Order: sequence, then structure tokens, then C-alpha cells
Amino acid sequence: MQSIWQRGWAEKPGKGGGGLSSKVDLAVIGGGIVGLFSALHYKHKHPGHRVLVLERGAYPDGASARNAGFACFGSPSELIADMEKEGEDAAMARVEERWRGLLELRAELGDERIGFEPTGGHELFGKADPLYTKVAEGFDRLNGSLHGILGQPAYEWRNDRIGDLGLNTGQLAFTGLEGPIHTGRMMQTLLAKVRELGVEVVFGAEVASFDDNGERVLLGLKDGSQLQSAIAVIATNGYANELVPDIDVLPARGQVLLTEPIAGLRLRGTFHANEGFYYFRDFEGGVLLGGGRHLDIAGETTTEDLTTPLIQADLERLLREMILPGKVFKIRHRWSGIMGFRGKGKTPLVDFVSPRVVAAVGLSGMGVAIGIRVARRAVGLV
Ligand SMILES: Cc1cc2nc3c(=O)[nH]c(=O)nc-3n(C[C@H](O)[C@H](O)[C@H](O)COP(=O)(O)OP(=O)(O)OC[C@H]3O[C@@H](n4cnc5c(N)ncnc54)[C@H](O)[C@@H]3O)c2cc1C
Repeated sequence: MQSIWQRGWAEKPGKGGGGLSSKVDLAVIGGGIVGLFSALHYKHKHPGHRVLVLERGAYPDGASARNAGFACFGSPSELIADMEKEGEDAAMARVEERWRGLLELRAELGDERIGFEPTGGHELFGKADPLYTKVAEGFDRLNGSLHGILGQPAYEWRNDRIGDLGLNTGQLAFTGLEGPIHTGRMMQTLLAKVRELGVEVVFGAEVASFDDNGERVLLGLKDGSQLQSAIAVIATNGYANELVPDIDVLPARGQVLLTEPIAGLRLRGTFHANEGFYYFRDFEGGVLLGGGRHLDIAGETTTEDLTTPLIQADLERLLREMILPGKVFKIRHRWSGIMGFRGKGKTPLVDFVSPRVVAAVGLSGMGVAIGIRVARRAVGLV
């Protein structure tokens, strides 16, 4: 792979008397969904400008390429919990952001090219589950509030589907307004689109420091090279405090597993449980299941990219007891990804960290839905 230095975007400090390159109008740090959409929105506004995305991985190596691909706006228990914590207006404003973001994502990239499947979203509640009682009480009110945003009823009880889906659970809420996407295909489509527009995306380029000197932004790369840009967007989400130490965003690891294909699997769609702490879906003939962070919040507040026996064993328990009862399964793959959570609340941080540098981080596990709009806000600021 060519380094950024080889590609002529940056110059070694002091080398050949050339000083720093002055060719970049916008430098985006981080090549995930927010970084790539920031580049795309900016390029739409300024087609003649030079835009550079610097991504330290060999491909988009953050949560954007590792997530579960839920194109969702919440689940009944998550939304009712949000309404209790933050009030109805704030909770519904976020639903609206997620819903609009999903519509924009699908319109911008195309359903087929992101692998969107309109197979519906579900939330499961165990037998004699106290969470069910709470959600059942708030169900009509939630649907009423959502109607104003979605223009149609959102959720209905569909316990009749439990058997068809092969699940072992007590109650099932369903919405036809949600579904899965293919995460890898979505990122490939987005990457191809920004490159088509002339954005330069450089992999293996880790930004170690930035300095807004009052005229431009000087970026120091880990390989010792430097470049300058008129403005910059930091889109490193869960890794944000590596570049901006006092920023109000904490890393939050999410762990996932994927089974081998299962003969006769009847599961279709996206599924939530326990206020969003567990989520699963069908994927390539098997089951993709993630969650369990609440079992070890302190341990999972980390950028360390690994899976742990505690959480993986719990996910396997759910497979055995609830998702694939009586079925034999084998785990094909386990992985983790790093999200960025705000210290308080779930509103992403889109703001200046210096006069020429905007951070667009802290997507709180909702980036598939809101990434495109967070990026638009960041570009609106710069
Ligand atoms: C397991 C898991 C499941 C999820 N499931 C869903 C879901 O179903 N639906 C949903 O809406 N959201 C989901 N999310 C959340 C979603 O994936 C994120 O909100 C979204 O991807 C964030 O995008 P981003 O571009 O802000 O960050 P990222 O995709 O993390 O991108 C940041 C990038 O910055 C790069 N980087 C970091 N530091 C530097 C540096 N110094 N220099 C250069 N590059 C750097 C990283 O390598 C990374 O590629 C999930 C997340 C995880 C981890």
C-alpha cells in the first residue's frame, strides 16, 4: 500500500525546502460512515475543492464496517426508557433524526446497493418479563407519539409470529418500518461513491496530532509526515479522545458473534431485546447476535479490540435458550467494534474543537441511521 507520503499529499517537514503542502481544502480524519459522508456532502457543495480522507486502517476499520446493520429507529422498550430518562420531546426528536437518516441513506446509496431487506423489526419479551408489563402499559402512547413522525402506526403485538420464526419467547412486538442492511456492501458503495466524486481516501494513514495555527490546520501523521489543510473534520467516533483528550466521548465496545448457516432457519428480520442491550438478525443463512455490554460496562469502556468469554458465553446462552431452541449451531466468527458514547445522553457531538476543526463524534450506537445527517451537520459548520 502506498503511504500518504508516497501519494504526494504531504511533504516531510523541512525536506527539499518545500515546507508543507497547501493543496488540501478539507481533511477528514476517519474513514467510517461519518468521515465518508462528510467528504461526500462537502464535495457536493464544493466540487472543485480537494478533499482528503485519512483512515488509519487498511480499510474502514471502525464500527462502520463491523456493525450489525440494523436500519432501525429504536425498539419499544428502548424508546420508552428514553422517554422516561429524557422526556418525550427529546426522545422523539432522536427518533426523527434516525428515521430521516435512514430514508436519506437509502435514497443516497440505493436499497439494492446497501442490501436493505424490508423484512421488519421485532422486540422480544420473555415469559413473565416485567419489562413486558411496562412496555404494554406505554405501548399506545408510544405509538401515538411515533405516528406524528412516521406518518403511520409503528408497532403492533404479533405473538402469532413467534412460532413461525422458531423463537422461544413470551411476547413479540413488530414493525414493518425497519429492516437489515448489508454493512460491508453499504460501506463499499459509499466508498466507491466518494471516490467517483474525486475524494482521495488514503488507508494506512494515522493522524497523530493536529494544530490549528490560526491560518490552517497542520496534521502530523504517525509515519512522521505532515500535511496542511484549510479545515478539518474529526470523525473518529469511539477513538475521539486519542486526538482530543478532553472531549466528552467515551469508547464503548460492542461484541458480536455469527453462526454458521443453519439448515431450515426461519428467522427473518431484525430483533431487539432488553432495551436494545441485545440484538440479532439473520445473516447469510446464520444468526448474527450482539450485545451484552451491560454485563461489564466498566470492562467494555475500552478501545481494545477483542471479545471476552463472559459476554460471548452469554450470547451463546441466548442462542440456545431463546433464538435457536433445540437447534445445533456452530459459531463461525466472533468480533468486536468500538462505538463512541456521550458522557450524558445520546446526542452526538458535532462542534468546533478549534476555529478550523470540527468534531463529529459520539454516535451512541446509532451510526447506520444518523451517520449521514451527523456528517451533514459537520459540513454545515465548516
Ligand atoms: C458491534 C456493533 C454493532 C452495531 N450495530 C449497529 C446497528 O445495527 N445499527 C446502527 O445504526 N449502528 C450500529 N452500530 C453503531 C455504528 O456502527 C456506529 O455508530 C457508526 O459506525 C459510527 O461511524 P463513525 O464513522 O462515526 O465511526 P467509525 O466507523 O468507528 O469510524 C472511525 C474511523 O476512524 C479511524 N481512526 C481512528 N483514529 C484515527 C486516527 N488517529 N487517524 C486516522 N483514522 C483514525 C478508525 O480506524 C475508524 O475507521 C454498531 C456498532 C458496533 C460496534
